[in-house]
Amino acid sequence: MNQEILIAGGGIGGLAVALGLARQGLPTLVLEKASKFGEIGAGIQLGPNAFHAFDYLGVGDSARSLAVYVDSLRLMDALSADEICRIPLDEAFRNRFGNPYAVIHRGDLHGVLLKACEESDLIKLRTSAQVVDYDQDGTGVRAILADGGTVDGTALIGADGLWSNIRKRVVGDGPPRVSGHTTYRSVIPFDLMPEDLRWNAATLWAGPKCHIVHYPLSDWKAFNLVVTYHNDAPEPVAGMPVDKSEVRQGFEHIHERARQIIEHGNDWKLWVLCDRDPVSIWVDGRVALLGDAAHPMLQYFAQGACMAMEDAVCLSAVAAELDGDMEAAFPEYQARRVLRTARVQLQSRQIGDHIYHAAGPHAALRNAIMQSKSPDDWYDTLQWIYGGTGLEGRTGAVT
Ligand SMILES: Cc1cc2nc3c(=O)[nH]c(=O)nc-3n(C[C@H](O)[C@H](O)[C@H](O)COP(=O)(O)OP(=O)(O)OC[C@H]3O[C@@H](n4cnc5c(N)ncnc54)[C@H](O)[C@@H]3O)c2cc1C
Repeated sequence: MNQEILIAGGGIGGLAVALGLARQGLPTLVLEKASKFGEIGAGIQLGPNAFHAFDYLGVGDSARSLAVYVDSLRLMDALSADEICRIPLDEAFRNRFGNPYAVIHRGDLHGVLLKACEESDLIKLRTSAQVVDYDQDGTGVRAILADGGTVDGTALIGADGLWSNIRKRVVGDGPPRVSGHTTYRSVIPFDLMPEDLRWNAATLWAGPKCHIVHYPLSDWKAFNLVVTYHNDAPEPVAGMPVDKSEVRQGFEHIHERARQIIEHGNDWKLWVLCDRDPVSIWVDGRVALLGDAAHPMLQYFAQGACMAMEDAVCLSAVAAELDGDMEAAFPEYQARRVLRTARVQLQSRQIGDHIYHAAGPHAALRNAIMQSKSPDDWYDTLQWIYGGTGLEGRTGAVT
């Protein structure tokens, strides 16, 4: 009997859980459907909870060396071009949460995890291996691959993302919910970013039914641009190249200072965002879900990958507590993670409606509430999420 734990999916979540389990002496085999491991060429924001996870997974130094440390989270009104508020990410923030807030290129982050996996004797990596289904009995699991092959292991972790095949069996709740929000992404060289907007901040311009996010990346060589338009798009789309003229359409009503940012982007790609309602069952015997496969969310809290890494930390710690018995570990992992991730899923939607895309009096109320908060008020509001580590047991949703 093969004693490896199988992991379907070699994204951030799959690689993170391979590293976490290796740390506990547990061998894994990562089965990735793509012909090579990688991530899309865009940025990602990392809350302090991501840094707790990096340290647990043994990649803290390398991840820290590739991150850009932004000074603030800056919220701009996209109609007036006035600043609404700024949350400082300075020493006080770091002391409060024990770690910084940063941004990083996805390829760099994935590369750090991949290198650490390649260096581990306990992790095997296999590409062109799409898991389409599984069988299990009392002693093990058999992953069934798209090419008809099979792979046996002691357990199976479905870290296969938004369109997870493993979820189809474990939860069976049909396709994800299409949000109707269309996101366009571009990365632009530093020199192309308007000089007066080269801020060391994760900046959000919030406008009626649209918003723009930008921040520096890759040692300030580039800026990440993500612009989103709530246009009620009916079908899911992922990574489709589009012309700039299409991107402009959703932003004609906002201030010129914000709108011009779109002109500097090139090679725009389009996603129609999807998420799911939270569910409380992620486990079927020797099979469990992790990351977007378990709790896909809109990106408005910038926490999807952070949650996947926290899942990896939690599952690894529980597996160690239960001497590597994954069948016993999975329900306990589920119990510790479901409420916390459900809160992020639901609040991500609320943030989209009430902060990112508000209009008229709704937006004026947003501005008034957000302006009234001090940095300490913000830190109190964010304590439950940024103060988390994946190790807080079943209370992670509320403390
Ligand atoms: C626009 C946008 C911005 C975002 N910004 C942030 C942010 O700032 N901060 C943050 O924390 N999160 C952010 N996220 C969320 C984050 O990208 C995801 O939550 C995270 O990548 C999920 O990781 P994962 O490993 O669970 O899934 P994925 O990244 O989807 O990885 C799944 C992997 O499994 C492989 N795979 C799929 N199906 C199979 C199969 N059947 N068999 C084998 N392999 C398979 C895929 O090829 C892929 O490699 C953002 C998301 C979007 C859309």
